[in-house]
Amino acid sequence: MTFKTAGFKLDTHYNRVRLSKGANLKEYWSDFILCEYQTRSDVDLSAVESVQQVRAVWTGDEWELHFVCKVEIEVSEAPGEKSVGVDLGITNFAALAYEDGHSELYPLNCLKEDDYYFSKRIAECDDSNSEQATRLNQKKSARRTHYFHTLSKHIVQRCVDEGVGTIVVGDLSGIRENEENGESKDWEKHGNLDLHSWAFDRFTDLLTYKAEMEGITVEEVSEEDTSKSCSFCGRTSDTNRVERGLYVCDTCGTVANADVNGAENIRQKVPPNLASDGGDRSNGWLAQPSTFLFNKETGAFAPQEQVTS
Ligand SMILES: [Zn+2]
Repeated sequence: MTFKTAGFKLDTHYNRVRLSKGANLKEYWSDFILCEYQTRSDVDLSAVESVQQVRAVWTGDEWELHFVCKVEIEVSEAPGEKSVGVDLGITNFAALAYEDGHSELYPLNCLKEDDYYFSKRIAECDDSNSEQATRLNQKKSARRTHYFHTLSKHIVQRCVDEGVGTIVVGDLSGIRENEENGESKDWEKHGNLDLHSWAFDRFTDLLTYKAEMEGITVEEVSEEDTSKSCSFCGRTSDTNRVERGLYVCDTCGTVANADVNGAENIRQKVPPNLASDGGDRSNGWLAQPSTFLFNKETGAFAPQEQVTS
């Protein structure tokens, strides 16, 4: 639900916003909802140039108000001309395939643990509408928001370090359609994790905003066939398959992490920049991505220790 400038009145002094439910000009009445809001500590609505829209978004647990603000920012020059492909999913929240061949995985381990913990505690509440249950829901939602902010910030920083000028991200309309058709098979496999398409949309918004501040362009492309075809030889064959998270190509013999293969296909959907040489890469380069885990104690993403056997 979107409220344009005429549809809301913002009072940043008392942190309240009045959302119009419509007006009847002939009979001179209007109806509205008065909402109290909280913003993240780093956001000050009274300091922005203007608030252009207010959106009420149902997150699955509660209503969130999103304020669309006009802010003047200094945009940096693009850190480089390379590209990176980002595949968003539910095993690895993000898989990144860089142009020079290396790749990174960001597993959802910590959100899964959080979800399990909060679902359990909410279930223990006598009443799902109780104050305690509401507080737990808010906490769960705040931790997710924090995770998305930290991850998008981390990925943008990695792109700056790697000289990336273009982030190519798959648009998730496929997931949305499946949800609408009731075909949520892939989701059910992940048990308690109720992560819906809105979470990916929100993450993409955060990533885009943070990337643009660094002068990096974010392009959304269709995810069609990106999980089915081989990113090395380009072939889509019925005999190509995914086994235990690995994509196996029968034609060229590539074996790669399935999410990284998807991310590389997404990256290749944007034509290469003529100025870049495409890096040098050999077959099998996709097989060993580095994995970054969210560390709850430091609140940051750190590379998983390599296990040598
Ligand atoms: Zn192949």
